[in-house]
Amino acid sequence: MNFAIQHSDLRDLYDKVVAGERLSDADALRLFESKDINAVGAIADFARQRKVGNRASYILNRYLNYSNYCILSCQFCSFARKKRDKDGFELTIEQMVQKAREALALGITELHIVGGLHPSLPFSYYVDFLKALKALDARLQLKCFTAIEILHLAWLAKKSVEQTLTELKSAGLESLTGGGAEIFRKEVRHAIARGKESAEEYLDVHRTWHRLGGRSTCTMLFGHVEKLEDRVHHLSLLRALQDETQGFTGFVPLPYQPENNDIPVRVPPTGLDQLRTIAVSRLYLDNFDHITAYWVGMGLKLAQVALSYGADDLHGTIVEEHIFHMAGAKSPQLQTEVEMVKAIREVGRIPVQRNTFYEAVKEWPAKARQTEPSEPRVDRL
Ligand code: SF4
Repeated sequence: MNFAIQHSDLRDLYDKVVAGERLSDADALRLFESKDINAVGAIADFARQRKVGNRASYILNRYLNYSNYCILSCQFCSFARKKRDKDGFELTIEQMVQKAREALALGITELHIVGGLHPSLPFSYYVDFLKALKALDARLQLKCFTAIEILHLAWLAKKSVEQTLTELKSAGLESLTGGGAEIFRKEVRHAIARGKESAEEYLDVHRTWHRLGGRSTCTMLFGHVEKLEDRVHHLSLLRALQDETQGFTGFVPLPYQPENNDIPVRVPPTGLDQLRTIAVSRLYLDNFDHITAYWVGMGLKLAQVALSYGADDLHGTIVEEHIFHMAGAKSPQLQTEVEMVKAIREVGRIPVQRNTFYEAVKEWPAKARQTEPSEPRVDRL
């Protein structure tokens, strides 16, 4: 047994995890409140190892924002613009195809596409861009839209959520993104994202998608005005839906970025808070296989440490990120494959390039070969 666990007052929770017993909400709160970060991390690392073994993954992907115009004004959002704003943008389908073509040449397997709730683009725009992008390469996986975008598109199309998702699926949609979950508790949601869909609506979009045979990820935006109890409540709703559908491929905790928005948070989530949140997520979400350390929000160095605190995935190359950077993220715009493989190897794991559904595309040897640095792919950027 790990030394940190042996001498910790969290020993009973370790015993529970070893026995395969589900942690309660009170247990999760205890882990969040514990100052013994080494023990919390060691227990999560045990659970991670048992669930996914010695592999850690990343994906070659490109982010694509079709527009940042949005009819809502969530208080925490630094990305959305109104039509009168000079730095608003919207891409034509031809521009999206061009960006996708360039990224495909670099070896990406996934386009991750989200935008604001555009005031006037018709439903056909979304269907047509999915078809145009899929026509570039049938193997390209399209992970698109947050739950609130799906509700907006259903409203535009004057169809039910189920009909809307079915049409988007036929056009090439393969996975929903997990964005927009924020914090589910009503009071917190009202304080940071007034006007956005309710927790029930978010969960119902994902439930419907899962019922149609789709998979998705889910998120939690933490470290703003919420209490630790709110985080546990949020995780409990995700765990319950996963029990029901088994449709979530992974969970991505998102540390709050405090710049250029209306939420007065002077101290964004600390490094320890981010590690603890990853660890509690791994332990409490016992029905999730994958927990991502999102390097865009954490920075690659802390995301690398998180691989020893329950995370087993570093997310992707991304290439062009707007949402976190407009909120003050100091991380680079893209991450190279070489850096991610190196970060994974340094913590003693086997790097695995994955696809959208966390299936292995390529497994790297545990130690670097001499020829590796010249393998370019996304590193050419
Ligand atoms: S978070 Fe999404 S829905 Fe809210 S204002 Fe920003 S882009 Fe619009």
